[in-house]
Amino acid sequence: MASKTKNIDIIIELLRIHYKNHQQPLISRNTWTVIPKTPFTVLISCLLSLRTKDEITEKTSIKLLKTYHTPKDILSLTETEIESHIYPVGFYKVKAKRIKEISKILLEKHHGKVPSNVSELLKIKGIGRKTANIVMVYGHNNENYLPIDTHCHRIPNRIGWISTKTPEETENELKQIIPKKYWSEFNHLFVTFGQTICKPISPHCSICPINQYCKQKNVKKHR
Ligand code: SF4
Repeated sequence: MASKTKNIDIIIELLRIHYKNHQQPLISRNTWTVIPKTPFTVLISCLLSLRTKDEITEKTSIKLLKTYHTPKDILSLTETEIESHIYPVGFYKVKAKRIKEISKILLEKHHGKVPSNVSELLKIKGIGRKTANIVMVYGHNNENYLPIDTHCHRIPNRIGWISTKTPEETENELKQIIPKKYWSEFNHLFVTFGQTICKPISPHCSICPINQYCKQKNVKKHR
């Protein structure tokens, strides 16, 4: 019922079309050609993507992970070597240090594997809720999680599906109204849409494929 009254089915369908017509983020692609797609490589690529453009994330993920795609491989590198592989991602020095620390924890406490449950992932310093959920969906192919980033928080609020203040609240509310069959694609559909049309400042409402279903809540300026 919720799905029908909020036009969720039709909006998801329109966002799928939008997604297919745009460059798809590395993490959401089913097939990775140059590097193996594993929970570990998804985790590292997700860490690299924070505050970094998709093109740079993809380039640096490949540069680092095509040769060093396990925690043991990463630990064979010095922090400076990791930095040189991942430059120019945002905060590359902090990320190089974190990638090394996380690899060490995975090797020492998890036999070199990425845990397949969120509570274990969240115990690892440097892995937050969004990253943990991304690893579950795109790394472990587990469809019971809903990763919420800034786009997934902002857009459902603008559309009028929810009225929430934090990504955590958004995750809880959306899980009540979004049919589970859409959870595994929700993140990449909304991220791509948020990067191209429903931008944080001055969204492109005039060319938006879902504008007839949107309440434009708290949108003060648009194009
Ligand atoms: S109409 Fe505007 S605010 Fe609503 S989803 Fe489209 S771009 Fe975003």
